[in-house]
Amino acid sequence: MNKITTSILRPTRTNLRRLAAVLRRGELVAIPTETVYGLAANALDAQACQKIFRAKRRPANDPLIVHVLNIDQAATLAEISPAAIKLAKRFWPGPLTLVLPRKSSVPDVVTSGRDSVAIRSPLHPLARRILGLTGRPLAAPSANPFGYISPTTPAHVRAGLGGRIRYILDGGPCAVGVESTILDLRDSTKPRILRPGAISRQEISRVLRCPVALGQRVSPMVAKHGEAGALAPGLLEQHYSPKTPLVLVRRWTAGVIRRAPRNCAFIHFKKPASAGRVRNVFWLTRKGDAREAARNLYAVLRKADKGRCSQICIESAPSALGALAAAINDRLTRAATKRQAPAHSSPGPEG
Ligand code: AMP
Ligand code: MG
Repeated sequence: MNKITTSILRPTRTNLRRLAAVLRRGELVAIPTETVYGLAANALDAQACQKIFRAKRRPANDPLIVHVLNIDQAATLAEISPAAIKLAKRFWPGPLTLVLPRKSSVPDVVTSGRDSVAIRSPLHPLARRILGLTGRPLAAPSANPFGYISPTTPAHVRAGLGGRIRYILDGGPCAVGVESTILDLRDSTKPRILRPGAISRQEISRVLRCPVALGQRVSPMVAKHGEAGALAPGLLEQHYSPKTPLVLVRRWTAGVIRRAPRNCAFIHFKKPASAGRVRNVFWLTRKGDAREAARNLYAVLRKADKGRCSQICIESAPSALGALAAAINDRLTRAATKRQAPAHSSPGPEG
């Protein structure tokens, strides 16, 4: 792909109309959502969606999430069960993605040839304005090179995809900060969480009045050959990784600190009482709030990744803090796995 100029556009009325026209003619636009920035294309245009895979260098077997304005638009793409309607009524617009049996209107490239499609309705007002003005469902995976940390600001998008895409819509920092909860609802009697996010298994279970299973984390080997990996490659153990090797610790102990290399970056969950202006010491939240921590997670990981450290040591979120803590720990566990792979088999963050 030739190098192109990447512009960050303010959300003026003229710019929004212009970007909707760009999307309608089959080009890409990075847009803010409440979870992370998405790299959007007209989901009904197979060639436009191919461009997402090229820009992200995403493998063709990793399907895209389609964003819609509402349940009516979702019904043009998927078979909507009574369970899906219940969940959409309760959680849409918001960070819940439903995997549903697809209709033939959805191009194969979007679902990577699966007979299901993943759909969500975003809450971010600019995502909704763009969806409304474009008048099409928008396929939009996170706007980062495949496997790297998701972007939560326009500057993050430019750092990863600058020179590969033309337009980024500036919606400021994302309010949630971690990707949506993905629920497999192909069979509404057997709902299963494929990726934890801000909406918890318990909340979903209460609405559906039935138990909700938690999908197992998939190792790269199983993903190659197994059913779960084939269904959702985003479950891969190795994902969301900084370039610097990352170690996840449950609690700071003398042993953890002693074993850390000299130029290690330390990321605390909560600001330590003794924290002064020490180089390479970071935290996700000042007062121990899971929402603040999720909002800051990717920006802090990126900062630590830039610090030319030989290792990042990060504390897991207290599980008592609920769904967002579970989502943070899920992402960190996957980011950490990379370190355990032998150096020669570890893919570059942009692979
Ligand atoms: P993202 O890159 O954050 O947009 O997440 C996309 C992820 O959604 C993929 O990696 C899959 O794990 C999941 N996904 C998308 N479409 C499907 C589908 N049809 N069936 C199961 N999982 C899906
Ligand atoms: Mg992603």
